[in-house]
Amino acid sequence: MATPRTGGCLCGAIRYESDGDVMFALRCHCRDCQRQSGAASVAAIRVAAARFHVTKGTPKRFVAQADSGNEIARSFCGDCGTPLYVQVATRPDVVGLRVYTLDDPGWFRPEADIFVKSAQPWEPVDAAVPQYPDYPPGKSYPVAAGQ
Ligand SMILES: [Zn+2]
Ligand SMILES: [Zn+2]
Repeated sequence: MATPRTGGCLCGAIRYESDGDVMFALRCHCRDCQRQSGAASVAAIRVAAARFHVTKGTPKRFVAQADSGNEIARSFCGDCGTPLYVQVATRPDVVGLRVYTLDDPGWFRPEADIFVKSAQPWEPVDAAVPQYPDYPPGKSYPVAAGQ
């Protein structure tokens, strides 16, 4: 994995970089991620917010309330619409970065598939990756639900 990791949106208006350890590598199958991304699941890595910086442009934010009541801010490019990262209000120290926006996403290996309770039956699943109905034990935010 390249360090620092760099990435950005489709049109190039937003660029970011992140270094430091990946805290958690996952694919999220929740309905909010499906709707926002336009895909059946979203590949994401959690990194420390202190080690993540937007280096060009200003993303737009859409804040939605998850079932738990947690507010989740989803940052995206206001010009091309690319979803870039999410932050949960209860964990401002963590950024959930969309892996497909990295310049080099090829090293990603998911540790878990989460929110498979809303996984789409037509999407192939990788039996080698642990699956969880929502959050895996120990990986939830203080008030769970919603990635
Ligand atoms: Zn863009
Ligand atoms: Zn999700």
